[in-house]
Amino acid sequence: MARYTGAVCRQCRREGQKLFLKGERCYSEKCSMNTRAFAPGQHGQLNARKKVSEYGLQLRAKQKAKRYYGVLEGQFAHYFELAERKTGMTGENLLRILESRLDNVVYRAGFAMSRKEARQLVLHRHFTVNGEVVNIASYLLKAGDKVEVKTTDCGKIKECIEKNSARPTPVWMTKDAEKMSVVVDRLPDRADIDFEVEEHLIVELYSK
Ligand code: SF4
Repeated sequence: MARYTGAVCRQCRREGQKLFLKGERCYSEKCSMNTRAFAPGQHGQLNARKKVSEYGLQLRAKQKAKRYYGVLEGQFAHYFELAERKTGMTGENLLRILESRLDNVVYRAGFAMSRKEARQLVLHRHFTVNGEVVNIASYLLKAGDKVEVKTTDCGKIKECIEKNSARPTPVWMTKDAEKMSVVVDRLPDRADIDFEVEEHLIVELYSK
């Protein structure tokens, strides 16, 4: 599978927003958005003053969402198609689909420090969904699904739970830190998703 191998913090700097791609470092003073909060590249600081076209804004919104959820172009376009077919607002549907990915739920529940780490743990068969091992990070969860850590003596996940104990669990899921499990009570509404993106711009981009 293709994957991004460039500098990670560069992506946050490009989007002008913390995307929480690096785990612990994102919550520390070392975060590049604290030290160099301007676009990367030789003209990064100058470009900040340039007027961005409508297309530019739409493109940035899409790139930001892709990067935040760690999804590549093809899959993102596929999610958009799914979102369009559902009833309701397409932009909101799109975010709901992205939030329902297994790697995202594992991260949101605090079982991993980043979505990337969550993806790795899922791939290494550390999680079950409704009692069955699932090693597909893009697996889409539904309301009522229960995600559990397969072997509760996994030191890595235990450490993450401890480190993330102060991070609030989203209202749309119920976590049992002791049993290392989380239940998706319902899929989130837009107000439940703390990601700052103007999703209508993504809809406009794909509607061209
Ligand atoms: Fe983004 Fe995290 Fe790097 Fe900060 S430390 S710039 S939030 S990836």
